[in-house]
Amino acid sequence: MTADPIHIVGGGLAGSEAAWQAAEAGAEVVLHEMRPVRGTDAHQTDRLAELVCSNSFRADDWEANAVGLLHAEMRRLGSLILRCADAHQTPAGGALAVDRDGFAEAVTRAIASHPRIQLERGEVAGLPPRDWTSVIVATGPLTSPALAEAIGRLTGEAELSFFDAIAPIVHAETIDMDVAWRQSRYDKAGPGGDAAAYINCPMDRDQYEAFVDALLAGPKSEFKNWEHVPYFDGCLPIEVMAERGRETPRFGPMKPVGLTNPHRPDVRAYAVVQLRQDNALGTLWNMVGFQTKLKHGAQTEVFRTIPGLEKAVFARLGGLHRNTFINAPKLLDAQLRLKAEPRLRFAGQITGVEGYVESAAIGLVAGRLGAAERMGAGLQAPPATTALGALVRHITGGHLESGARSFQPMNINYGLLPPIEAPPRTEGGKKLGKLERTRAKKRAVADRALADLAEWSAPAHAELAPGP
Ligand SMILES: Cc1cc2nc3c(=O)[nH]c(=O)nc-3n(C[C@H](O)[C@H](O)[C@H](O)COP(=O)(O)OP(=O)(O)OC[C@H]3O[C@@H](n4cnc5c(N)ncnc54)[C@H](O)[C@@H]3O)c2cc1C
Repeated sequence: MTADPIHIVGGGLAGSEAAWQAAEAGAEVVLHEMRPVRGTDAHQTDRLAELVCSNSFRADDWEANAVGLLHAEMRRLGSLILRCADAHQTPAGGALAVDRDGFAEAVTRAIASHPRIQLERGEVAGLPPRDWTSVIVATGPLTSPALAEAIGRLTGEAELSFFDAIAPIVHAETIDMDVAWRQSRYDKAGPGGDAAAYINCPMDRDQYEAFVDALLAGPKSEFKNWEHVPYFDGCLPIEVMAERGRETPRFGPMKPVGLTNPHRPDVRAYAVVQLRQDNALGTLWNMVGFQTKLKHGAQTEVFRTIPGLEKAVFARLGGLHRNTFINAPKLLDAQLRLKAEPRLRFAGQITGVEGYVESAAIGLVAGRLGAAERMGAGLQAPPATTALGALVRHITGGHLESGARSFQPMNINYGLLPPIEAPPRTEGGKKLGKLERTRAKKRAVADRALADLAEWSAPAHAELAPGP
């Protein structure tokens, strides 16, 4: 290997994709993977891109599903992860599921046989050496402790999390504002001057009691025995709060004080669920204090009993896991580089995206940006109208910070993409129904994304793979 290489730390979903993209773009790459020299609590093999749990890459419909759109964009950019997933599919209806062994074996073989990639097995047990001038850190949710501690020292410990505490996020347009209303407690203006920063959903006593019963009875996910997730007082799961006392949520995140319901000013709510704006676009709202271990199906069912959220569509459901990730919106620049030390670029789950596909997607972008920088070409991240660009935008500034640890891992969803108007009628002039309009809107978002992606990738990457 002659030219100064890009060092990629971690050969998971993100690191393997980053290595492939950088090498295909002409850069020399050294990929450092610690397994099998050192294991993690979840991985079982020495293969690259091992799937530690489910074998699903989720919905594969580019016209009607945001993760399907991400698949389509990645395929168009020659993603190794998508190519190997496509080659090792198992039947899963509209989802893309894979034979995990065949998939990981194919990724490992492709990386090992690439002439510009050198695979080194061993832990990078601290900050990468100074003479590694271009590095992509893609060590994932189970980053080894020695490296995680070094990153924590560099970023400031408050900016590195070892656990996520995820509250559900709702698409704004699905909140019933004939029931809910905008107001901050005591009309207090925040730093931005907004005295109506929250959306409030009121409950009467019967609704609250039924809600607490449902929280207590709902099925919960178990922690893995190695996770050792502590409950911090500031982010107790809502159902654990209810277990501590039926009234505890009402004296915590659901307290009804300082709020007047303009729809029924003479009735004082018994409890209130508040939602706070989560992204700069204003399309996503976070249920304040609602981190939870309830299973996903139960969350949808229970949270839709909240007045105003009966028809809520969730962009993200809640959770609590062992997970290493940085406060990316504060720490990273638009090139995914650490502002404090730009030779270090980050990719994958450690940047605060969630999921196999999202992690690989950030790896894809980081690999291309790293290679372009190495080769002196100016390349920006994909536009925010693409699913790839929307994810990058979210983790590099799209999320609105609202207090310590407000940034929590995020899946791709339509709320991250700039809204678009759907045509009210078909080309033939027929008025579209609500469902048809939603479908048309998603299709319009997808068409815009693929057109903008083609333009972004055109000069440097003229040979696009066939369309979705
Ligand atoms: C228990 C568990 C279950 C999950 N289940 C799902 C699921 O069902 N579906 C889903 O979409 N997502 C799931 N996730 C999230 C999933 O891990 C990520 O979506 C995805 O694997 C992240 O990709 P990544 O490349 O960022 O990290 P990983 O795929 O974890 O890759 C990181 C790699 O870095 C290596 N590494 C770590 N530290 C070092 C070091 N210091 N030096 C060298 N190498 C190092 C690791 O060995 C690993 O191979 C789960 C996560 C966990 C922890």
